[in-house]
Amino acid sequence: MGFAPTFIFAFAMGMKCHFMAGYSAYCGGIGAAAEVLQAAEMGGDLAESCSYHRLHMGMAEAVKRNIPINPDAILPIPDIMIAGRLCPEMAYYAEGLNRRLGVPVLPVEFPIVFDREDVPRIKKYFAAQIKETVIPTLEKVCGKPFDYDRMSEILTVLKKVVTVRNKCWEFFKEKPSYWTLWDYGVSIAPLFYMMGDPVGITYYEKLLKELQERKEKGIPAIGPEGEKYRLYWDGWLPWAFLGKFMRKLTPHAAVCLTGRYLWEFYPDPDMIDPEHPVETWINLYYDGKEPLAMEYAPKGALHEIGNLIEDYSLDGMIMFSSKTCRLWNISQLDVIDMLEKKYGVPGVIIEGDMIDPAMVSDSQIDTRLEALFELIDARRR
Ligand code: SF4
Repeated sequence: MGFAPTFIFAFAMGMKCHFMAGYSAYCGGIGAAAEVLQAAEMGGDLAESCSYHRLHMGMAEAVKRNIPINPDAILPIPDIMIAGRLCPEMAYYAEGLNRRLGVPVLPVEFPIVFDREDVPRIKKYFAAQIKETVIPTLEKVCGKPFDYDRMSEILTVLKKVVTVRNKCWEFFKEKPSYWTLWDYGVSIAPLFYMMGDPVGITYYEKLLKELQERKEKGIPAIGPEGEKYRLYWDGWLPWAFLGKFMRKLTPHAAVCLTGRYLWEFYPDPDMIDPEHPVETWINLYYDGKEPLAMEYAPKGALHEIGNLIEDYSLDGMIMFSSKTCRLWNISQLDVIDMLEKKYGVPGVIIEGDMIDPAMVSDSQIDTRLEALFELIDARRR
């Protein structure tokens, strides 16, 4: 499944599912990315195509040609792929899976909103796709009516999960912070993969308790001298390189605390109305004061990141520009420029990839980080 928001409809039907970024993060985390990407290359995939896409193609290629890869990286061939198209790459990804493995594709357009006046029109278009295509197709595949009651139950649990998780978020405002964006990133599975399972509530309650204890005992996220640079991180988390970045940031007493990605999922529990499950899902992206579908566009990003700079007392911005991603990199330089002028907070672009080691350069990361810390220090003088 591409792009997470469509997930819940399949969950409500009792289908087992995974989504694109989830599998990719998992592959990176178990250290299987390089060999799966190599299998993709053997199948003719270009290194310039999105590495999330390539991982799936590599896995398919390995299954088809019996190429030995880490068995934990092999997924069962799906009955259907829901392609939530948030970026142009998704169409190629869906086409690739369909052509190579014969997997049927259910395409859903998720248009990004550039101007607020476009929201009602786009929302109507999006809602029609969910009601007239996604739900009837899932009913056909599963051979049963859509389970609105189960979706309501899932949302009831999600509302509780998000409420506790938001309390954990608040700890990012503490100075020093008691956890990092990386900790937050690796805590996302109970929300996604266990969607609707009350164990997600227990997970975040335990996490909240741990954060409260750290605060009481005065144990910050990084020690022993505590934090010197509080940073914004834009774009995907570098799933296969979380440790690498940590080892580069921590010696400088630098800590990443916020970002648009990860923040985007279910930010407001009050918007979750289990009595109206389908509308809740549509509203999550195309309604409210700050519709999430606007944050991917540069205008929405400016607004969102500006708020984060103020709310989380940030000193600098790292724009992680994944070389193969078609979505997050849009206008990152302009965003830095405008926010720097408005808030006096400098930023740098670090080019790399969330998964592909061939696209990650230590010396480039080191140089850009040094530049960022020098800029912040200069502003402080
Ligand atoms: S290009 Fe970026 S947004 Fe698009 S599918 Fe790949 S990782 Fe996702």
